[in-house]
Amino acid sequence: MAKEILKDCGLYKNSPTLISCPTCGRTQYDMIPIAKEMESFLQTLESDITVAIMGCAVNGPGEAREADIGIAGGKEEAVLFKKGKVVRKIPQDRIVEELKSEIVKMIE
Ligand code: SF4
Repeated sequence: MAKEILKDCGLYKNSPTLISCPTCGRTQYDMIPIAKEMESFLQTLESDITVAIMGCAVNGPGEAREADIGIAGGKEEAVLFKKGKVVRKIPQDRIVEELKSEIVKMIE
């Protein structure tokens, strides 16, 4: 919490930012639990990385092009994207695990 307040004041920059879309009729996967789990994970990192969790692969990567890395949901899968460009697909049951490991690789 204190970290967030300092960050909002521009005094603490070394903490990740999570962005997510509001979801809409295009959302095809169970996004909220993934966003919650990623939020807890990001709070453990010291990095200014921006991570996006988006509802659909049609618009998600573009809507979150300012993010360093993110996922956008499809049917029983998600696409992994970096800086708005789709990198690869991830099956539903591996989304959180693979996104975490991609983030760790990026900030190491
Ligand atoms: S990214 Fe897709 S699901 Fe999310 S608000 Fe945009 S169009 Fe809807």
